[in-house]
Amino acid sequence: MAKRTCLDCGALTNGTRCIACQRPRERAALRTKRERRPRTSYAEDKRRAAAVAAHRREQGDWCPGWKRDPHKATDLTADHIDAVAAGGSEGGELQVLCRSCNSAKGAR
Ligand SMILES: [Zn+2]
Ligand SMILES: [Zn+2]
Repeated sequence: MAKRTCLDCGALTNGTRCIACQRPRERAALRTKRERRPRTSYAEDKRRAAAVAAHRREQGDWCPGWKRDPHKATDLTADHIDAVAAGGSEGGELQVLCRSCNSAKGAR
C-alpha cells in the first residue's frame, strides 16, 4: 500500500491524517453533537399542557411547592421530575410547579 503523509504533521499515514492528528478532530466533532440540546416535540408539549390542565381540574391554581410550602400560583408549568438534560427520558413522569418553583428546581 502506498504511504501518504499526514496533512497536519507530515508523518507517514494510510489516510489523510495520522492517528495522532485524526483523534482530536473526532473528539471535537463528538463534543458538538452532545452539546446540542434536545428540542421538545409537539406531542411532548401537548402532554405537558394536559398535565397542567389535569392539575388545575383537581387542585386549582395551586403549586405544590419546590422546597417550600404549597402556595397559590396561576403560572403553572409541567416539567420532568428528572430533567431531560440530566439524563431523564422525554416521556418520563411530569411534575406540575409554578414558574418560580420550576426554575428553583432547575437551578439545584
Ligand atoms: Zn499528523
Ligand atoms: Zn411554586
